[in-house]
Amino acid sequence: MNRGSDRVRVILLNAALGPLDYSVPEGMYAVPGSIVMAPLGPRSVPGVVWDMESFPVDEIDAKRLRPLRELRDVPPLSAPLRRLIEWTAQYYLASPASVLRMVLSSGAAFADNRPIIEYRLNGVVPGRMTPQREQALNALGDTQASIGELANKAGVSVAVIRGLEKLGAFDRFEVPAFSVTSLPKASFSKVELNDDQARVGDILVAAVKKAKFKPYLLDGVTGSGKTEVYFEAIAQALTQDQQILILLPEIALTEPFLDRFKTRFGAEPVAWHSGLKQSDRKRNWRALASGEAKVVVGARSALFLPYHNLGLIIVDEAHEVSFKQEDGVRYHARDVAVMRAMHEKIPIVLASATPAIESRHQVEQGTYEQLELPARFGTAALPTVEALDLTRDIPPKGSWLAPTLVNALEENLKKGEQSLLFLNRRGFAPLTLCRTCGHRINCPNCTAWMVEHRLTRRLACHHCGHVMPQPEKCPECDDEDSLVACGPGVERICDEVKMLFPEARTAIVTSDTIWSPAKAGEFVAQMEAGAIDIVVGTQLVTKGYHFPNLTLVGVVDADIGLEGGDLRAAERSFQQIAQVAGRAGRAEKPGHVYVQTRMPNAAVIQAIIKNDRDGFYAAELEARRAAAAPPFARLAAIIVSSEDNSEAMEVARMIGQTAPKVEGFSVYGPAPAPLAMLRGRHRHRLLIHAHRSVELQVIVRDWLEQLEWPRAVRVGVDVDPYSFV
Ligand code: ADP
Ligand code: ZN
Repeated sequence: MNRGSDRVRVILLNAALGPLDYSVPEGMYAVPGSIVMAPLGPRSVPGVVWDMESFPVDEIDAKRLRPLRELRDVPPLSAPLRRLIEWTAQYYLASPASVLRMVLSSGAAFADNRPIIEYRLNGVVPGRMTPQREQALNALGDTQASIGELANKAGVSVAVIRGLEKLGAFDRFEVPAFSVTSLPKASFSKVELNDDQARVGDILVAAVKKAKFKPYLLDGVTGSGKTEVYFEAIAQALTQDQQILILLPEIALTEPFLDRFKTRFGAEPVAWHSGLKQSDRKRNWRALASGEAKVVVGARSALFLPYHNLGLIIVDEAHEVSFKQEDGVRYHARDVAVMRAMHEKIPIVLASATPAIESRHQVEQGTYEQLELPARFGTAALPTVEALDLTRDIPPKGSWLAPTLVNALEENLKKGEQSLLFLNRRGFAPLTLCRTCGHRINCPNCTAWMVEHRLTRRLACHHCGHVMPQPEKCPECDDEDSLVACGPGVERICDEVKMLFPEARTAIVTSDTIWSPAKAGEFVAQMEAGAIDIVVGTQLVTKGYHFPNLTLVGVVDADIGLEGGDLRAAERSFQQIAQVAGRAGRAEKPGHVYVQTRMPNAAVIQAIIKNDRDGFYAAELEARRAAAAPPFARLAAIIVSSEDNSEAMEVARMIGQTAPKVEGFSVYGPAPAPLAMLRGRHRHRLLIHAHRSVELQVIVRDWLEQLEWPRAVRVGVDVDPYSFV
């Protein structure tokens, strides 16, 4: 322990720097994990005091050490969390500083104890109005937030908000940095579990009591009561006065989950996601660090919060690929969650109706214990599933729904029951083409088609967000009225539904319409109130929702997912269709699912129709074994990008040429990435394939550390990649 004069090693929040040593001024009590401000050149930079032995450095003379400036008044990061940070940095080939940045997200940790100041319009209209002031007054309503957040929300500059504030248009509020949240109660409203559920529940409760590291795969069909069962484990952890982390794949799912949690435990858990206001962030961060808050529900970043005494981790919908982060530190939240549980020495539950191949493999290896819930709860039966062969049951020209599906929709409408059409494509049409010259409208920044969004009358790139107005004429040959939309997106399917059933009440559910937890809450309320007859949605509707009156599901195009041809294409299609099918008939009324396909005999489609999960998994696992693909071997990708294509190509080639020659370690490429340009940067990829016995990270780190490249070139490593574009 360091007191006063000692030397400490500090990781600064600066990815370009390694750990630096400082001296501790008289009277400051800095221990490993302490959050401090340290001098760097003329500036003060935040950092965390680290264990001396973790990162050996050439020690500089004690006399030359500069003293730390300040010790922040928050609990030090715990040893298990520090080990997790080190593991994450090592495994994903990231700098400890960039992982630390996720832990200390948005400066919440460094902010002092002073209350945050927020403002809210008070109805005073300033004498001198400008268009911007007008805009702000119209946009803000009764929003209460900081000046920066208000400016953001109103789409005006901070100066405009400050100006309005000076003129007295806002009331000022001091939001305290601490709060006492009402606490969830273990036995607020318990449910009676059925036999299967009780058996699994008992095992999980025992695991929480035992307080040892152990991963469980909670594998139960959709609607079998996985949530009810893991609630039992949560109740036990609450009884033990421990904290619980629940990871969800999508922030849109948090709102319905918060309600459900409150019904069971009498109080809402703390939410953690990118949509939080700064003041909530600060408050939640501190409430968790102090142990005051007990339960967190969050997206992947909640994984790195500084829990005071974590007792249990739940990863719900654990198969979801959105747990994989694709920029910054490219980590997989499911896998890091397991490592966190290991370091904290606690049980972790991965819940899914369609577990990932990797997780099933861990069960076979004996690392995870599988807990099965074989049947739906109560009288609810699994829906019947039927393939519709689009080469025989042909939709009329210019339409996408097969006659059989249209009839079924009509029947369902008559019965007053709800239907869901699933198509994993946002917008109206994925491609706009000129009938005269054949020109396809591409994104100027990416190798990707611009997607027509008819609701907003614009074309949008789904990779970089570039938008342009719908052109009147072909940008290539200038021909007018020659542009045609090719293929369907959800908007187009919704148009077709409206043409067929003008009286039906429809809703489109995509990330364009459900972009916040509040929007998701509105959608759920409308569905529950029966105000929607037919939902058309993307993968966003395949997750977690429970609508008792939803009895018909139509999968518009089951073949799309198989086109990508990457490693997990078949698995992902299987999971997605099984999940969306799982939305049907979740209560007393039976459900029916139609799957439109041009390949009714494909193995994936057959497995879905026959509900042959185990058969599908066995076949897929064998195929992976035969191809020496993960989980039987390991992959990593190196992505080289630059605004200058020849520069990117040159660096990629240089990396390829210097590849180490190690038994069981092969490097393929470089080759232009399938998405050869992204956000204006040219991209080249190398793929590493390694035996499980090879220390992939060590080899790659040693290899890349010796190389140099121009500053404008970015080299990123993606360990266990999920995206191959
Ligand atoms: P899953 O998470 O496996 O999809 P849920 O936990 O959401 O399943 O359960 C599906 C539905 O059945 C929910 O409405 C849930 O409240 C209800 N349910 C499940 N088990 C029970 C139980 N033992 N008692 C009462 N309702 C239950
Ligand atoms: Zn783009």
